[in-house]
Amino acid sequence: MTSPHDALAASLAERGLRWLAVTWVNHAGAPLVKAVPVAQLAETVRTGVGFSPVADAFGADGGIDPAHRLAVPDGDLRLRADAAALAPLDPALGWAWAPGERWQRNGAAYGADQRHFCRRQQERLEAQGITLQAGFELEWLVAEPGTAPGPAVPGGPYGADRLVEGLDYATAVLEAIEAAELPWLQFHPEYGASQFELSLAPANALEAADRLVHARLVIQRVSRRFGWRCSFSPKPSLERVGNGGHLHISLQRDGVPLLQGGEGPGGLTVPGQAVLATLLEELPGLMALACPLVVSYLRLAPSAWAAPFQVWGIENREAALRLIPTAADGSAAHLELKVSDLGANPYLLLGGVQAVVQTGLQRPGSLGGCPVLPPPVSGDPAGLPAGTASRLPVDLAEASAAFAASSLLRQAMGDALHGSLLDSQAAELRRNAGLTPEDQVLASGWWPLVGGLG
Ligand code: GLU
Ligand code: MG
Repeated sequence: MTSPHDALAASLAERGLRWLAVTWVNHAGAPLVKAVPVAQLAETVRTGVGFSPVADAFGADGGIDPAHRLAVPDGDLRLRADAAALAPLDPALGWAWAPGERWQRNGAAYGADQRHFCRRQQERLEAQGITLQAGFELEWLVAEPGTAPGPAVPGGPYGADRLVEGLDYATAVLEAIEAAELPWLQFHPEYGASQFELSLAPANALEAADRLVHARLVIQRVSRRFGWRCSFSPKPSLERVGNGGHLHISLQRDGVPLLQGGEGPGGLTVPGQAVLATLLEELPGLMALACPLVVSYLRLAPSAWAAPFQVWGIENREAALRLIPTAADGSAAHLELKVSDLGANPYLLLGGVQAVVQTGLQRPGSLGGCPVLPPPVSGDPAGLPAGTASRLPVDLAEASAAFAASSLLRQAMGDALHGSLLDSQAAELRRNAGLTPEDQVLASGWWPLVGGLG
């Protein structure tokens, strides 16, 4: 009898899909891959393919910091493909893609696996009747290859001139995104020179993270076909605005929205306020997941819509947490985490956000009393009197210290994941130590092209 996965492999082969790229995203945020023939799908789902645990000690440039606890030659894991998330990658060339999770060879879960962590948090929320929908916005620079990324497509911010100057590219990107079966909401030329943005449609946390990884590979592929490169670096150049990876989330409990229909500011319900208050409180530690590169903090300047203050606001693009309330058109209220960038491992970020949401909803305040949510901030917090709005961590060292001190995140992740991430953050700090901001930007300018073009 053929297994369902053999049947799936046969239908993929009928569609001309011959090879399967199975990816996971390591502690440094880089997608790593092993490819197998589609005919081996059932085995790749059941048993998986080998991957050494050392791959989480790879830094953002691919180098291994010897002080990292996973910088050892021993051991092996099995990367198992998730067939439910399988989709085309470049179908014209016969490629399919699936995200994977790493397991111990004895069949036990591997404690430091990022997608497991996200899955566990999602299952916990779902068991409490909570539905979290999430979607990422991707911003990237289309650049001519060279030492440093230089703009390839002329045209102004949000400019129709840039859309038509790059219309062949835009068409190819959107065609490839659709051929990869990635639902998207919106595409536009962004503010920065030669910068574009794609908003992915919302889904559950695992799917949202998968879609980000998948879409980034598709965009990278299309850019290459044009002889260009895309940079998703949070700060591809010191002079221009950075690339964000904003995260949108909405929440429902037993089908009832928590971010609208209440008496609180912006229509927040009492549990919705508790979630916001807890997210704000935990934001410094979450930053180590949302903004994990040293250059992430060069992007987070005030007044650049990257929102580096620990405040929330209603429709305020300078607030780290922006509430987009429900409106006359009936659109659902949601929250935007503006600080995050695409250096983030989306599984870790969404796992962390879900853990914080869960804690917020368990707070006694959310059951009756009023949780402590400061008033929303309107206008640019940079213009407020000194001391009114606190700055979020100004560098990775500060964010990593907050992450180390967060018992919420440590307990949700477990020591294997939390501790090895601290080592990765220390390695990223050492990699950049002694470099000027110019050299830091150059060293990460082509992210996620590991090793850049140097
Ligand atoms: N490029 C800005 C950033 O670094 C965001 C612009 C926007 O609000 O979309 O996050
Ligand atoms: Mg944008």
